[in-house]
Parts: sequence; C-alpha cells; structure tokens
Amino acid sequence: MPIRIILIGPPGVGKGTQAALLEERLGVKPLSSGVIFRSEIEAETDLGQLAKSYIDRGELVPNGVTIQMMVKRLRSDDVRHRGFVLDGFPRTVRQAEALSEELDREEIRLNGVVSLEIDDEVVVRRLSGRLGCTKCGEIYHSVNKPPKREGFCDKCNSPLFVREDDKPETIRERLRVFRENTQPVIDYYDAQGQLLRICGDRDPEEVFRDVATELGVLDQA
Ligand code: AMP
Repeated sequence: MPIRIILIGPPGVGKGTQAALLEERLGVKPLSSGVIFRSEIEAETDLGQLAKSYIDRGELVPNGVTIQMMVKRLRSDDVRHRGFVLDGFPRTVRQAEALSEELDREEIRLNGVVSLEIDDEVVVRRLSGRLGCTKCGEIYHSVNKPPKREGFCDKCNSPLFVREDDKPETIRERLRVFRENTQPVIDYYDAQGQLLRICGDRDPEEVFRDVATELGVLDQA
C-alpha cells in the first residue's frame, strides 16, 4: 500500500529534509510545491514567470494555478504507485479543500498530516545561512552544516546557491504569511482528527523517527 503523507510547517522547519528522508527510507515520492515552482522558473515557463513575481516577495502564488499544478502531479503514474509526501502544499484552506476533493474522488486515504513545529527565531537563524545545491538539492548551512569545499556540493560538486527568498526581511514575511494562511490549514486537519504535531527543533534523524513512529510506518523504514 503506498504511503501518503502531508507535511506542514513554517519555512525552515525541515520539511524538505524530512521529505528526502521519507523518500530515501520508504520510497515515497516527495512533492514539493516550492521545488516545482523553482523548476518552472528555471525552465522559464509562463507558470514560472508568474510564480516568480510572488515568490521573490515571500507571498503566496495564487490558489488557482497552484492547485492545478499539484493536482496534475498527484494524478501522475509515479505518484499513484509510490505514494507521496506533500511538502509546502496545501498552504491555504482553499488548497486543502481542493486536495480533499481530489483525494475523495480518487478514493485515496492519507496516512496522516504531520505538523512540524518550531519557534520563529530559530527559523530566522536557520534560514539566514541556508545554502542549496543547484543540481541535487542537498541542503547545507554556513554555520551548522558547511560544505567541505566552500560554495560546492559535497555529493555532486555542483555550485551552491542562496535562495532569493532566504533574506532576513523576506523570511519574516514568509513567517507572517505562514501564520496567516497556513495556521488555518493546521486547524482544518486537526478538526478532522488527522493531525500529528511533532517538534521540528531537533536533529533530523530524531524528527524522522517520531514522524515514522507516529504515522505507524517505522517498520517499513
Ligand atoms: P517553499 O520552498 O515551500 O518555501 O516555497 C517557496 C515559495 O513558493 C513560497 O514562499 C511561495 O511563494 C511559493 N509557494 C510554494 N508552495 C505554495 C503553495 N502551496 N501555495 C502558494 N504559494 C506557494
């Protein structure tokens, strides 16, 4: 039975890291709306151009295009076979409702919705030094996890980059947007009895163990 999970949490809590661990250990397909938007920007598509104007300001991309883009991915054969870990979607109640409709239509049940929790100040500290690999997506931190060779990925040797929206002012705006739009999404899943709250301010391995245990999938890892 494919595993299907939603990861929710503020920027910088480690959703991407957990999604990568879930893929590595359980084979589930990570579906990150942020990663998909960034690849659309890179490929200079119309959607990428539209998304960029919002992303650079730390604002949300409009619901309509975001929902359409994610539903298309959810219907792909790979995702049907491998299951999914949604990271960064849904971010608004409208997106959550659209996702519920899609899952109901396809008669798909979620294993659970994980809310990763962390203080804003820790997020600002974490994101201000974040570096990502342009090729394989590995994440580094200038203080906590520096690469062996400055500016280059340990795994694939490609150049590292700082995300445009990881500047301190933009980080604060993203946190504000999260509290305003995404807190109600957490309440939405909580009201449905699907929510698992997990502290994200710990070593990623510890967080992973809790996530897998709470979801009841640790034996498959
Ligand atoms: P992330 O990589 O998840 O931090 O996303 C980076 C940016 O992409 C966000 O700050 C938003 O501008 C945009 N974005 C990602 N996911 C969504 C979503 N579900 N709805 C609207 N905008 C999104």
